[in-house]
Amino acid sequence: MKYVIVVPDGMADRPLEELDGKTPVEAAETPNMDLIASKGVCGMATTFYEGLPYDSSIANMSILGFDPRKYFTGRGPLEAANFGVELNPGDVAMRCNLVTLKDGVMDDFTAGHISNEDCRQLIAEVNERLGGEGIEFYPGVSYRNLLVLRKSVEPSSEVRTRMPHNFVGEDVEANMVKVRVDEASKTADLLNRLTRESWEFLGDHEVNRKRVEEGKKPANSIWVWGAGVKPDMPSFKDLHGITGSLVSAVDLLKGLGKIGKMRVLEVEGVTGYLDTNYEGKADAAVESLGEVDFTYVHLESTDESGHEGNIEHKITAIEDIDKRVIGRMLDRLEGDYAFIVIPDHPTPIEVRKHTNEPVPYAVYDTRKEGDSVSSFSEREIMEEGSIPQCEALEILKRTIRG
Ligand SMILES: [Zn+2]
Repeated sequence: MKYVIVVPDGMADRPLEELDGKTPVEAAETPNMDLIASKGVCGMATTFYEGLPYDSSIANMSILGFDPRKYFTGRGPLEAANFGVELNPGDVAMRCNLVTLKDGVMDDFTAGHISNEDCRQLIAEVNERLGGEGIEFYPGVSYRNLLVLRKSVEPSSEVRTRMPHNFVGEDVEANMVKVRVDEASKTADLLNRLTRESWEFLGDHEVNRKRVEEGKKPANSIWVWGAGVKPDMPSFKDLHGITGSLVSAVDLLKGLGKIGKMRVLEVEGVTGYLDTNYEGKADAAVESLGEVDFTYVHLESTDESGHEGNIEHKITAIEDIDKRVIGRMLDRLEGDYAFIVIPDHPTPIEVRKHTNEPVPYAVYDTRKEGDSVSSFSEREIMEEGSIPQCEALEILKRTIRG
């Protein structure tokens, strides 16, 4: 018996006037998702929790069966795992964006989707000037870098940070690091000092002078968020009793897989966007099932299109995932299997950010009868799905139990 979960990130949506009252997944051609919904059983699931951020980290932990209320400490340590940066007790890891500030306002949380090469040079300069004993900056992909505060600077993860994508166009000063508890004030002061000091040399750096000359946005500030300590998580195998692999373009997901000691598949040409190597991901996932019992395929293009508010892109992403990932996998799977399709959360076109409504999902188990749902649709699954609404946390466990 094999198990598959395909996650089109942010695919769930709301009815749109532009689509004659249909949602993007209802408007898209999705014969393979419809097949899974019609042959399988369907229901609605919650993937977020009160008091925890509406972030893909939480939602994907839920779907994988790791209870975020027990194991989520912050996004930073999950990404650190994918950077191969070892965290010890007492260390705190954080995301460190390179961003563009303009007239005291958050102008662009990606610094114009800065290239890896520009990013590498700037983070090297940041580390040279601001790093040192217990303060380490690591360059990542594009604007997504890492800051690790070691135990020697007595860091606290109880700082209150703002995700820069959530206050674009708003005042920077009002969104500097604050504290949840008094003991974190030393860390908050340190982080705010590092951010302010980055303003003194980044804007004028030759990489940025060249970017401005070329009409690109300068990466004139660091922005830190998502602080956490190394989570004390069981392995996927200890949790579920089966072995698993995971494929994704995103550091966060790959880090989650590494912390869960899953096999993290490397595929050429994955971008987390519409131009990703869909077939490569599908093939790597199916191939891995020769050696493991379960595979998790995460696709980001649906979420990016939702954040863009671009209906056409979102429909293209959904149709590509349906045909080039799900259809391709169904063609290649052999023997008995359970195939689950579930978006991690809605990223509705009209609000362009994550919302906490329940998501529709379908479980097609080759050994079982389906329910009366005939297509993968938010509305139809809500009305006709046979599984009572549950937490996403339960779905994989229940499917493995059979
Ligand atoms: Zn998102």
